[in-house]
Amino acid sequence: MVWLLLVCLPPLAGALAYGRAPLFAWLTAGLMWIAAMGWAGDWPVLLTLLALLVYGGALSVFLNDSLRRQRVTAPIFKAFRKALPTMSQTEKDALEAGTVWWEGDLFSGNPDWRKLDGYPWPKLSEEEQSFLDNEVEELCRLTRDWECTQQQDMPLEVWQHIKDKGFLGMIIPKEYGGKGFSAYAHSQVITKLSTRSSAPAVTVMVPNSLGPAELLLHYGTPEQKEHYLPGLASGREIPAFALTSPWAGSDAASIPDAGVVCKGIWQGEEVLGMRVSFDKRYITLAPVCTVFGLAFRLYDPDGLLGGEQDIGITCALVPHDHPGVDIGRRHFPLNAVWMNGPVRGKDVFMPLDFIIGGPAMAGQGWRMLMECLAAGRSISLPGSNVGMQKLTARTVGAYARVRYQFKTQIGRFEGVEEALTRIGANTYLCDSARTMTAGAIDLGEKPSVVSAIVKYHVTERARQVVNDGMDVIGGKGICLGPQNFLGRAYQQIPVGITVEGANILTRSLILFGQGAIRCHPFVLAEMDAARRNDEDAFDEALWNHVGFTVNNAGRAFVMGMTGSHFVKVPANVAPQTRRYYQQLTRFSAAFAFIADISMGTLGGALKRKEKLSARLGDILSLMYLATATLKRFEAEGRQPADAPLMHWAIWDCMYRIQVAFEGVIANFPNKLFAFLLRRLIVFPLGRPYKVPSDRLGHEVASLLIDPSATRDRLTADVHLPDDIEEPVGALEAALLATVEAEPIEAKLKQAQRSGSFQPGLMTGGDVDEVWRRARDAGVITGAEYQLVERRNMLRDKVIRVDDFPYDFDLREAVAGMPDVSPARREAA
Ligand SMILES: Cc1cc2nc3c(=O)[nH]c(=O)nc-3n(C[C@H](O)[C@H](O)[C@H](O)COP(=O)(O)OP(=O)(O)OC[C@H]3O[C@@H](n4cnc5c(N)ncnc54)[C@H](O)[C@@H]3O)c2cc1C
Repeated sequence: MVWLLLVCLPPLAGALAYGRAPLFAWLTAGLMWIAAMGWAGDWPVLLTLLALLVYGGALSVFLNDSLRRQRVTAPIFKAFRKALPTMSQTEKDALEAGTVWWEGDLFSGNPDWRKLDGYPWPKLSEEEQSFLDNEVEELCRLTRDWECTQQQDMPLEVWQHIKDKGFLGMIIPKEYGGKGFSAYAHSQVITKLSTRSSAPAVTVMVPNSLGPAELLLHYGTPEQKEHYLPGLASGREIPAFALTSPWAGSDAASIPDAGVVCKGIWQGEEVLGMRVSFDKRYITLAPVCTVFGLAFRLYDPDGLLGGEQDIGITCALVPHDHPGVDIGRRHFPLNAVWMNGPVRGKDVFMPLDFIIGGPAMAGQGWRMLMECLAAGRSISLPGSNVGMQKLTARTVGAYARVRYQFKTQIGRFEGVEEALTRIGANTYLCDSARTMTAGAIDLGEKPSVVSAIVKYHVTERARQVVNDGMDVIGGKGICLGPQNFLGRAYQQIPVGITVEGANILTRSLILFGQGAIRCHPFVLAEMDAARRNDEDAFDEALWNHVGFTVNNAGRAFVMGMTGSHFVKVPANVAPQTRRYYQQLTRFSAAFAFIADISMGTLGGALKRKEKLSARLGDILSLMYLATATLKRFEAEGRQPADAPLMHWAIWDCMYRIQVAFEGVIANFPNKLFAFLLRRLIVFPLGRPYKVPSDRLGHEVASLLIDPSATRDRLTADVHLPDDIEEPVGALEAALLATVEAEPIEAKLKQAQRSGSFQPGLMTGGDVDEVWRRARDAGVITGAEYQLVERRNMLRDKVIRVDDFPYDFDLREAVAGMPDVSPARREAA
């Protein structure tokens, strides 16, 4: 009986925790359990009474507000205040920037699936759709990446189209002459442009992201808005934003660039202004901009503004031709065509009116930047990187069917299939996350943690997708030239990885570091209460927090023991996805618990334990990516043919979540907690998740090489030229011709196998000779021969690789270039 009671204890506690039982229920159940133990174990009456008294006493302390505060909360409060790391204003601004959206539910341990279901799936307005179909399509048509590369800039015609058609003012409201587009439309434009060339994509992306227009819209004075926004909208003004310095890249808040408040002459009059010295690098569009945002630290040593001496980071708008500004030189970021370069100035005097928002916003620059970053990071880089993924899925899928080796289409080899599978499923997943997140911005959210999740994961997966694509197309991807459709994307991938929060830092420091504080229902409240020295507020947050932790432990345990089969899921989700919702609920509870244990046991040290923090961030991110994928599947009408993409992406997420949990537990500094976490909470019955099956992978890969509605949905908005002299145009036509020719190919093979057709020796070095002989022998008809001939012509266009004069014709152009011609070498 005693054993039975002991065995019943964990499920009993689990059930109470699972049901978020009130303290009163814990009290009653506990008293009854102790009484039963006393009776079954034949305890002396006194011992039983003592145990009842201790348990009842402890719980009544919790039930009595003033006793609890005095005896329990007060010492914890004291210790918490002491342990709370000091936080600079810039850290505080970064932490508090933006809003908490769906990721808050994933952090809660019990996501409300009805909420996810209720978010509208973004759609373009008629005007936005027309812009995408006409102006964007035309810009793609005008841009030839190779030509841009050769002249290291976009042709004037392309620049003019960008300016005239309002590409630089997509986020500027109509009242200032801008397009006033939604975040989703902005994202769609960048995605489509990125399927063509990074040159127009980045040129358009930057003015519509974190920069002068966005900062002016949110913080500019009415005069500044009137002065700049119409010009920015019409393309008369080209903006850049200069934050990064040689000494402060990732740690941008520590920029040494400084301004000192002083008097000076401006437009012939003495005015109060700032003398600013700055040295900025990597600034996109700087060489061609007409105005740039400048971030620097402002000091007022003489108290001319009447406040602090160290005013803080300040953002100003500076015309490119302002006296003392040194601008116009250029960096060469991985052969990029778009403009990027340094901006420098020494003791440049500028009036206080240059400060965005006027003198009142002096010192508010970091907060402004963090708030805008929270939204902007959700759009540009996810858009451009999904564009590159879609391009890869479309082109590499086609190439894998058109290209033969060992008399087989390379896409039929299992090894290649594996790469194609990752390309397809990652593209589906990343596009889901990009779309759902842009939709959040259109709902008015500025989800700082989600924006970091999509920035990090979409750029990382784009790297995987493009790398896989490069592997599949072999030498064709490596040799650059007008016929290479992927090499330039491969070159540009590291840019997205590095900018707007370099990826290693984002994963190690931001995803969980910021997520834990922003998304946790009680941690921020506890920290706030401790900083304000408000013990009452701390007491409330603390005990809610304890209840939350106990509840998540119980729920994770019960769901782990039952395989989460009994988790309630809304009835309206697709039946084949029900289990995913259940498993994600389980993961969410286990994650919330492990996050609490990590924060509770490691405290401030967790900031330095970047590997643990990164893995915890992976779990949160993967849950977000999986839910975005589920949302897309529903929003697109549960397309049965798309299901393999969804299933593979989610299985992969589940498996990776399991790996991330395992990584946290295996490296958890406290081994007792590690043991309990593994055995009781996270994996009580072992590790249940496996990699997606090869069969499923085969289905995904087939979707990439078969022309179908699914393939079109997956790669929607890839720019597809009609011209078969362009590599993507050739691929499109070649894929269709290949599919048409396959039955004829089968006929020829059958004839050869049965011995009815013996082509004889092929001595002419012509790979297509066999077809002529088959036609002449009557194995295939004349019409069939024509189909095959066209397929062969297109295939040859697809597989061709550019070659150039050995000196790229540069020897004549570049004076003094040594002649290393083979003839000269032989002569030497
Ligand atoms: C092509 C390009 C365009 C750009 N455009 C602009 C622009 O328009 N305006 C602008 O202001 N800036 C721009 N940048 C700057 C960009 O934002 C910075 O490059 C970026 O912030 C990283 O700084 P860094 O290159 O100096 O790398 P570093 O800060 O030196 O970082 C090096 C590595 O260390 C890692 N790291 C740093 N700190 C940590 C940490 N605490 N934990 C873990 N890892 C860490 C980083 O993740 C990175 O991998 C651009 C950069 C490039 C390359």
